[in-house]
Amino acid sequence: MTRVFNFSAGPAALPESVLRQAADEMLDWKGSGMSVMEMSHRGKEYMAIHAQAEADFRELLAIPANYKVLFLQGGGLAQNAIVPMNLLRGKTSADFVNTGEWMKKSIKEAQHFCKVNVAATAEASNFTCVPKQSTWKLDPDAAYVHICTNETIGGVEYHWVPDTGKVPLVADMSSHILSRPIDVSQYGLIYAGAQKNIGPAGLTIVIVREDLLGNAMPITPAVFDYHQQADNDSMYNTPPTYAVYIAGLVFQWLKAQGGLKAMEVHNRTKAALLYGYLDSGSFYSNPVAKEDRSLMNVPFKLKNESLDEAFLKGAQALKLMQLKGHRSVGGMRASIYNAMPVEGVKALVEYMKEFASQHA
Ligand SMILES: *Cc1c(COP(=O)(O)O)cnc(C)c1O
Repeated sequence: MTRVFNFSAGPAALPESVLRQAADEMLDWKGSGMSVMEMSHRGKEYMAIHAQAEADFRELLAIPANYKVLFLQGGGLAQNAIVPMNLLRGKTSADFVNTGEWMKKSIKEAQHFCKVNVAATAEASNFTCVPKQSTWKLDPDAAYVHICTNETIGGVEYHWVPDTGKVPLVADMSSHILSRPIDVSQYGLIYAGAQKNIGPAGLTIVIVREDLLGNAMPITPAVFDYHQQADNDSMYNTPPTYAVYIAGLVFQWLKAQGGLKAMEVHNRTKAALLYGYLDSGSFYSNPVAKEDRSLMNVPFKLKNESLDEAFLKGAQALKLMQLKGHRSVGGMRASIYNAMPVEGVKALVEYMKEFASQHA
């Protein structure tokens, strides 16, 4: 068996020890004689797995008691509709800060439900920065302010938390949740699809402040009504049980690594290695403003794009996989989530140096 260094943006690499444990427990979970996949979601075994996963997730992020954690389905994109259905609460508009591809999708979807105010946009810079808060035109009557704290395609990350006063802040954290500590109390709602930094595709986690619940639009499907799901411990319908189980193993792995403070050190080390090398010459380049660069997703271009194919082929030969950039921007992208070891980034940088010297 050979494991590769997997730089995929998502679904993405998982810790090897998690996969090994899942393999060990595949046919017989702790003497139950069943795989977790085969268990009733209402049985005591699965209920314990589910409760432990939630408890560990709360502990990792230090989630205050007045926030609900929901394990849902539908992915990050479904939340673009589910958030307005639940959080408009009789109001008619919401604010958005356009930082790139993922926010564009949020804005488009919300237009079906309310008036969309784009309070700021990074379009003029071709989405290579986070607009400074001093330029935001927030509406004090907005139902909420929606941001994407890590633009997975552009590689742009918020390294600060906007102040939206009494208006709840909603954040799509799909591609950097659990990468470092955050102060949950500064947000009204956080959501994340699991397949970047949490676990398998199919699970979507929502963290929502309790006082925002209970006013969903009447058309809201019951399975997407946060209040109904919260009242039923995310078991209004069948949750994505196996994905929750794997996510739970990832949470235990994170705790064993030292929690999110240790993860931040690990992630900053990797990002510094890669950006440090990118900035050291002119063969490769990353267009993002230095203070807004993502610790998780590092897009970069080669000086001469006719070398892209050769670069990818050489990388593959060294088991450095899934480095091709998103089709909308081209070039390369290295996603270096929690599960990417420092050795993987070192191997990538070594290869990049070698390739640059051969094609200078
Ligand atoms: C991947 C991603 C999504 C989309 O998630 P799906 O599960 O495919 O719906 C949304 N937002 C961000 C920031 C992402 O990285």
